[in-house]
Amino acid sequence: ELQFASAVEVLMSYYPHVKKAVGASEKIFEYVDRQPQVPPEGSLAPKVLRGNVHMKNITFAYPKRPDTPVLKGFSLELKPGEVTALVGPSGAGKSTCVSLLERFYQPQDGEILLDEQPLYSYQNQYLHDKIAVVSQEPVLFARSVRENIKYGREGATDEEMIRAAELANAHTFISDLSKGYDTDAGEKGGQVSGGQKQRIAIARALIRQPKILVLDDATSSLDTESEHLVSVCNFNQCAVLLIAHKLSTVEKANHIIFLKDGEVIEEGTHEELLGKGGAYAQLVEKQNTAFQRSAEEGSDANVHFTGSK
Ligand code: ATP
Repeated sequence: ELQFASAVEVLMSYYPHVKKAVGASEKIFEYVDRQPQVPPEGSLAPKVLRGNVHMKNITFAYPKRPDTPVLKGFSLELKPGEVTALVGPSGAGKSTCVSLLERFYQPQDGEILLDEQPLYSYQNQYLHDKIAVVSQEPVLFARSVRENIKYGREGATDEEMIRAAELANAHTFISDLSKGYDTDAGEKGGQVSGGQKQRIAIARALIRQPKILVLDDATSSLDTESEHLVSVCNFNQCAVLLIAHKLSTVEKANHIIFLKDGEVIEEGTHEELLGKGGAYAQLVEKQNTAFQRSAEEGSDANVHFTGSK
Protein backbone atom coordinates (compact mmCIF):
# COMPACT_ATOMS: atom_id res chain seq x y z
CA GLU A 1 0.00 0.00 0.00
CA LEU A 2 2.84 2.33 0.90
CA GLN A 3 4.55 1.59 -2.38
CA PHE A 4 1.39 2.40 -4.23
CA ALA A 5 1.03 5.67 -2.28
CA SER A 6 4.56 6.77 -3.14
CA ALA A 7 4.06 5.81 -6.77
CA VAL A 8 0.96 7.99 -6.81
CA GLU A 9 2.98 10.79 -5.25
CA VAL A 10 5.62 10.53 -7.96
CA LEU A 11 2.94 10.58 -10.63
CA MET A 12 1.21 13.56 -9.02
CA SER A 13 4.46 15.51 -8.97
CA TYR A 14 4.43 15.16 -12.74
CA TYR A 15 0.87 16.34 -12.98
CA PRO A 16 1.68 19.51 -14.99
CA HIS A 17 3.52 17.41 -17.57
CA VAL A 18 0.81 14.78 -17.58
CA LYS A 19 -1.78 17.45 -18.20
CA LYS A 20 0.19 18.53 -21.25
CA ALA A 21 0.46 14.99 -22.54
CA VAL A 22 -3.08 13.69 -22.34
CA GLY A 23 -3.23 10.58 -24.44
CA ALA A 24 0.50 9.93 -24.31
CA SER A 25 0.53 7.94 -21.09
CA GLU A 26 3.80 6.20 -21.85
CA LYS A 27 5.45 9.60 -21.42
CA ILE A 28 4.70 9.40 -17.68
CA PHE A 29 6.96 6.42 -17.33
CA GLU A 30 9.65 8.07 -19.41
CA TYR A 31 9.59 11.04 -17.01
CA VAL A 32 9.68 8.81 -13.94
CA ASP A 33 12.60 6.86 -15.44
CA ARG A 34 14.46 10.04 -16.18
CA GLN A 35 13.87 11.87 -12.92
CA PRO A 36 17.04 10.99 -10.96
CA GLN A 37 19.25 12.33 -13.76
CA VAL A 38 18.24 15.96 -13.54
CA PRO A 39 19.44 18.50 -10.95
CA PRO A 40 16.82 20.45 -8.98
CA GLU A 41 14.86 23.19 -10.65
CA GLY A 42 16.44 26.66 -10.75
CA SER A 43 14.84 30.02 -10.04
CA LEU A 44 15.77 32.17 -13.06
CA ALA A 45 12.89 33.56 -15.13
CA PRO A 46 14.19 36.74 -16.78
CA LYS A 47 11.65 39.06 -18.47
CA VAL A 48 13.78 39.29 -21.58
CA LEU A 49 15.41 36.24 -23.11
CA ARG A 50 17.50 36.58 -26.24
CA GLY A 51 17.48 32.83 -26.88
CA ASN A 52 21.17 32.08 -27.32
CA VAL A 53 21.86 28.42 -26.66
CA HIS A 54 25.38 27.13 -26.25
CA MET A 55 26.05 23.43 -25.77
CA LYS A 56 29.73 23.25 -24.90
CA ASN A 57 31.90 20.13 -25.14
CA ILE A 58 29.12 17.81 -24.14
CA THR A 59 29.93 14.24 -23.25
CA PHE A 60 26.91 12.13 -22.50
CA ALA A 61 26.13 8.44 -21.96
CA TYR A 62 22.67 7.05 -21.20
CA PRO A 63 22.27 5.69 -17.64
CA LYS A 64 21.64 2.22 -19.03
CA ARG A 65 24.94 2.22 -20.92
CA PRO A 66 27.28 4.41 -18.85
CA ASP A 67 30.42 3.18 -20.65
CA THR A 68 29.16 4.02 -24.13
CA PRO A 69 29.02 7.79 -24.64
CA VAL A 70 26.64 8.78 -27.42
CA LEU A 71 27.87 12.38 -27.52
CA LYS A 72 31.62 13.01 -27.32
CA GLY A 73 32.86 16.59 -26.98
CA PHE A 74 29.80 17.83 -28.83
CA SER A 75 29.25 21.58 -29.24
CA LEU A 76 26.43 23.55 -30.81
CA GLU A 77 25.23 27.15 -30.82
CA LEU A 78 21.72 28.37 -31.54
CA LYS A 79 21.29 32.06 -32.35
CA PRO A 80 18.13 34.19 -32.41
CA GLY A 81 16.83 34.60 -35.95
CA GLU A 82 18.85 31.69 -37.35
CA VAL A 83 18.15 28.14 -38.46
CA THR A 84 20.72 25.59 -37.32
CA ALA A 85 20.41 22.14 -38.86
CA LEU A 86 21.68 18.95 -37.30
CA VAL A 87 22.24 16.15 -39.80
CA GLY A 88 23.93 12.75 -39.71
CA PRO A 89 23.33 9.02 -39.91
CA SER A 90 20.83 7.16 -37.79
CA GLY A 91 22.14 6.74 -34.24
CA ALA A 92 24.55 9.69 -34.55
CA GLY A 93 23.02 11.35 -31.47
CA LYS A 94 20.66 13.97 -32.95
CA SER A 95 17.62 13.14 -30.82
CA THR A 96 19.84 12.77 -27.75
CA CYS A 97 20.92 16.37 -28.23
CA VAL A 98 17.22 17.41 -28.14
CA SER A 99 16.61 15.37 -24.96
CA LEU A 100 19.47 17.23 -23.27
CA LEU A 101 18.02 20.56 -24.36
CA GLU A 102 14.69 19.50 -22.89
CA ARG A 103 16.50 18.69 -19.65
CA PHE A 104 15.46 15.05 -19.63
CA TYR A 105 19.07 14.14 -18.90
CA GLN A 106 22.16 15.83 -17.58
CA PRO A 107 25.46 15.59 -19.49
CA GLN A 108 28.36 13.96 -17.61
CA ASP A 109 30.74 16.56 -18.98
CA GLY A 110 30.44 19.99 -20.57
CA GLU A 111 27.64 22.51 -20.11
CA ILE A 112 24.47 23.82 -21.68
CA LEU A 113 24.02 27.57 -21.45
CA LEU A 114 20.94 29.63 -22.21
CA ASP A 115 21.85 33.32 -22.53
CA GLU A 116 25.14 32.52 -20.77
CA GLN A 117 23.43 30.95 -17.74
CA PRO A 118 23.33 27.18 -17.08
CA LEU A 119 20.09 25.63 -18.37
CA TYR A 120 19.39 24.10 -14.95
CA SER A 121 19.41 27.51 -13.26
CA TYR A 122 16.08 28.43 -14.92
CA GLN A 123 12.57 27.59 -13.72
CA ASN A 124 11.09 24.55 -15.44
CA GLN A 125 7.87 26.31 -16.43
CA TYR A 126 9.92 29.17 -17.87
CA LEU A 127 11.94 26.76 -20.01
CA HIS A 128 8.75 25.04 -21.06
CA ASP A 129 7.36 28.38 -22.25
CA LYS A 130 10.50 29.48 -24.06
CA ILE A 131 11.66 26.23 -25.68
CA ALA A 132 9.14 24.56 -27.98
CA VAL A 133 9.86 21.09 -29.31
CA VAL A 134 7.81 19.61 -32.15
CA SER A 135 8.55 15.92 -32.07
CA GLN A 136 8.66 13.36 -34.86
CA GLU A 137 5.10 12.26 -34.19
CA PRO A 138 3.23 15.09 -32.50
CA VAL A 139 0.10 14.21 -30.56
CA LEU A 140 -3.04 15.99 -31.70
CA PHE A 141 -6.22 15.79 -29.66
CA ALA A 142 -9.49 14.50 -31.03
CA ARG A 143 -10.74 18.05 -31.10
CA SER A 144 -10.96 20.75 -33.73
CA VAL A 145 -7.87 22.15 -35.43
CA ARG A 146 -8.75 25.46 -33.72
CA GLU A 147 -8.63 23.90 -30.24
CA ASN A 148 -5.44 22.05 -31.06
CA ILE A 149 -3.63 25.24 -32.07
CA LYS A 150 -5.08 27.41 -29.30
CA TYR A 151 -4.06 24.77 -26.75
CA GLY A 152 -0.56 26.24 -27.12
CA ARG A 153 -1.58 29.34 -25.18
CA GLU A 154 -4.60 29.97 -23.01
CA GLY A 155 -6.69 32.88 -24.16
CA ALA A 156 -5.19 33.07 -27.67
CA THR A 157 -7.37 34.95 -30.16
CA ASP A 158 -8.44 33.80 -33.63
CA GLU A 159 -6.10 36.36 -35.19
CA GLU A 160 -3.16 34.94 -33.24
CA MET A 161 -4.17 31.42 -34.24
CA ILE A 162 -4.29 32.34 -37.93
CA ARG A 163 -0.96 34.17 -37.73
CA ALA A 164 0.66 31.09 -36.14
CA ALA A 165 -0.92 28.82 -38.77
CA GLU A 166 0.33 31.06 -41.58
CA LEU A 167 3.86 30.97 -40.19
CA ALA A 168 3.66 27.18 -39.92
CA ASN A 169 2.49 27.06 -43.54
CA ALA A 170 -0.73 25.46 -42.39
CA HIS A 171 -3.33 28.17 -42.96
CA THR A 172 -3.97 27.37 -46.63
CA PHE A 173 -4.57 23.65 -46.19
CA ILE A 174 -6.65 24.23 -43.05
CA SER A 175 -8.84 26.69 -44.94
CA ASP A 176 -9.36 24.01 -47.60
CA LEU A 177 -10.59 21.39 -45.08
CA SER A 178 -14.34 20.71 -45.11
CA LYS A 179 -14.98 22.64 -41.89
CA GLY A 180 -11.83 24.77 -41.93
CA TYR A 181 -10.50 25.40 -38.41
CA ASP A 182 -13.48 23.49 -36.97
CA THR A 183 -12.41 20.22 -38.64
CA ASP A 184 -11.63 17.35 -36.27
CA ALA A 185 -7.85 16.91 -36.14
CA GLY A 186 -7.97 13.54 -34.37
CA GLU A 187 -7.59 10.09 -35.86
CA LYS A 188 -11.31 9.77 -36.41
CA GLY A 189 -11.35 12.93 -38.49
CA GLY A 190 -9.04 11.16 -40.90
CA GLN A 191 -8.72 14.28 -43.00
CA VAL A 192 -5.32 15.39 -41.80
CA SER A 193 -2.15 13.77 -43.15
CA GLY A 194 1.03 13.12 -41.14
CA GLY A 195 2.83 16.14 -42.57
CA GLN A 196 -0.20 18.35 -41.96
CA LYS A 197 -0.36 17.16 -38.34
CA GLN A 198 3.22 18.25 -37.89
CA ARG A 199 2.40 21.68 -39.30
CA ILE A 200 -0.58 22.05 -36.93
CA ALA A 201 1.80 21.11 -34.10
CA ILE A 202 4.23 23.80 -35.29
CA ALA A 203 1.39 26.36 -35.24
CA ARG A 204 0.55 25.22 -31.69
CA ALA A 205 4.20 25.75 -30.73
CA LEU A 206 4.47 29.16 -32.43
CA ILE A 207 1.34 30.59 -30.78
CA ARG A 208 3.35 30.43 -27.53
CA GLN A 209 5.91 32.74 -29.10
CA PRO A 210 8.87 30.59 -28.08
CA LYS A 211 12.42 31.88 -28.33
CA ILE A 212 13.75 28.47 -29.31
CA LEU A 213 11.96 26.09 -31.64
CA VAL A 214 13.19 22.53 -32.13
CA LEU A 215 11.76 20.65 -35.11
CA ASP A 216 12.36 16.96 -35.53
CA ASP A 217 11.57 16.53 -39.18
CA ALA A 218 11.43 12.75 -39.23
CA THR A 219 8.89 12.45 -41.99
CA SER A 220 10.57 15.14 -44.08
CA SER A 221 7.18 16.78 -44.27
CA LEU A 222 8.87 20.17 -44.11
CA ASP A 223 10.84 19.22 -47.17
CA THR A 224 9.51 21.75 -49.60
CA GLU A 225 9.14 24.39 -46.96
CA SER A 226 12.62 25.18 -45.78
CA GLU A 227 12.14 28.76 -46.93
CA HIS A 228 9.21 28.99 -44.59
CA LEU A 229 11.50 28.25 -41.69
CA VAL A 230 13.29 31.50 -42.40
CA SER A 231 10.08 33.44 -41.73
CA VAL A 232 9.59 31.41 -38.54
CA CYS A 233 13.00 32.70 -37.45
CA ASN A 234 12.14 36.27 -38.26
CA PHE A 235 9.01 35.94 -36.16
CA ASN A 236 9.90 36.89 -32.60
CA GLN A 237 13.60 36.46 -33.50
CA CYS A 238 13.27 32.78 -32.75
CA ALA A 239 16.25 30.40 -32.84
CA VAL A 240 15.40 27.24 -34.79
CA LEU A 241 17.09 23.86 -34.42
CA LEU A 242 16.13 21.58 -37.28
CA ILE A 243 16.83 17.88 -36.88
CA ALA A 244 16.91 16.79 -40.50
CA HIS A 245 16.81 13.24 -41.71
CA LYS A 246 17.00 14.25 -45.36
CA LEU A 247 19.35 16.76 -46.96
CA SER A 248 16.95 18.80 -49.06
CA THR A 249 15.43 20.41 -45.97
CA VAL A 250 18.66 21.94 -44.74
CA GLU A 251 20.00 23.87 -47.74
CA LYS A 252 18.62 27.18 -46.50
CA ALA A 253 19.88 26.73 -42.93
CA ASN A 254 22.30 29.40 -41.66
CA HIS A 255 24.48 26.70 -40.18
CA ILE A 256 24.67 22.94 -40.76
CA ILE A 257 26.26 20.54 -38.28
CA PHE A 258 27.15 17.05 -39.46
CA LEU A 259 27.13 14.61 -36.59
CA LYS A 260 28.52 11.08 -36.73
CA ASP A 261 28.94 8.65 -33.82
CA GLY A 262 28.39 11.47 -31.34
CA GLU A 263 31.02 13.77 -32.82
CA VAL A 264 30.78 16.81 -35.08
CA ILE A 265 32.72 15.89 -38.18
CA GLU A 266 31.86 18.93 -40.32
CA GLU A 267 30.03 22.23 -40.01
CA GLY A 268 29.27 25.28 -42.12
CA THR A 269 26.74 26.51 -44.67
CA HIS A 270 25.49 24.31 -47.50
CA GLU A 271 27.89 26.00 -49.94
CA GLU A 272 30.87 25.80 -47.58
CA LEU A 273 30.28 22.11 -46.94
CA LEU A 274 29.88 21.39 -50.65
CA GLY A 275 33.18 23.19 -51.23
CA LYS A 276 34.93 20.99 -48.65
CA GLY A 277 34.03 17.86 -50.59
CA GLY A 278 33.70 15.83 -47.37
CA ALA A 279 30.96 13.65 -45.85
CA TYR A 280 28.18 16.18 -46.46
CA ALA A 281 29.17 16.78 -50.09
CA GLN A 282 29.33 13.03 -50.70
CA LEU A 283 25.82 12.59 -49.32
CA VAL A 284 24.49 15.43 -51.47
CA GLU A 285 26.04 13.77 -54.50
CA LYS A 286 24.54 10.43 -53.53
CA GLN A 287 21.15 12.06 -53.17
CA ASN A 288 21.41 13.81 -56.53
CA THR A 289 22.37 10.56 -58.27
CA ALA A 290 19.44 8.79 -56.63
CA PHE A 291 17.19 11.66 -57.64
CA GLN A 292 18.32 11.47 -61.27
CA ARG A 293 17.83 7.72 -61.31
CA SER A 294 14.37 8.06 -59.80
CA ALA A 295 13.46 10.69 -62.37
CA GLU A 296 14.54 8.29 -65.14
CA GLU A 297 12.70 5.38 -63.56
CA GLY A 298 9.77 7.48 -62.39
CA SER A 299 10.11 6.28 -58.79
CA ASP A 300 10.79 8.07 -55.53
CA ALA A 301 14.33 7.26 -54.43
CA ASN A 302 15.26 10.05 -52.08
CA VAL A 303 18.24 9.22 -49.92
CA HIS A 304 17.54 9.26 -46.19
CA PHE A 305 20.24 9.08 -43.57
CA THR A 306 18.44 6.36 -41.72
CA GLY A 307 20.24 3.08 -42.13
CA SER A 308 23.31 4.64 -43.73
CA LYS A 309 25.40 4.37 -40.54
P1 ATP B 1 17.86 8.74 -35.81
O1 ATP B 1 18.21 9.57 -37.01
O2 ATP B 1 17.70 7.29 -36.15
O3 ATP B 1 16.69 9.27 -35.02
P2 ATP B 1 19.73 9.92 -33.90
O4 ATP B 1 20.88 10.58 -34.57
O5 ATP B 1 18.64 10.80 -33.41
O6 ATP B 1 19.14 8.76 -34.81
P3 ATP B 1 19.86 9.03 -31.14
O7 ATP B 1 18.44 8.60 -31.08
O8 ATP B 1 20.25 10.28 -30.44
O9 ATP B 1 20.35 9.11 -32.66
O10 ATP B 1 20.73 7.82 -30.57
C1 ATP B 1 22.14 7.90 -30.35
C2 ATP B 1 22.60 6.60 -29.71
O11 ATP B 1 22.06 6.50 -28.40
C3 ATP B 1 22.17 5.33 -30.44
O12 ATP B 1 23.23 4.43 -30.41
C4 ATP B 1 21.00 4.83 -29.63
O13 ATP B 1 20.91 3.44 -29.70
C5 ATP B 1 21.35 5.29 -28.22
N1 ATP B 1 20.15 5.57 -27.40
C6 ATP B 1 19.12 6.37 -27.72
N2 ATP B 1 18.21 6.43 -26.71
C7 ATP B 1 18.70 5.65 -25.71
C8 ATP B 1 18.24 5.30 -24.39
N3 ATP B 1 17.10 5.80 -23.89
N4 ATP B 1 19.03 4.46 -23.63
C9 ATP B 1 20.18 3.97 -24.12
N5 ATP B 1 20.67 4.26 -25.35
C10 ATP B 1 19.95 5.08 -26.14
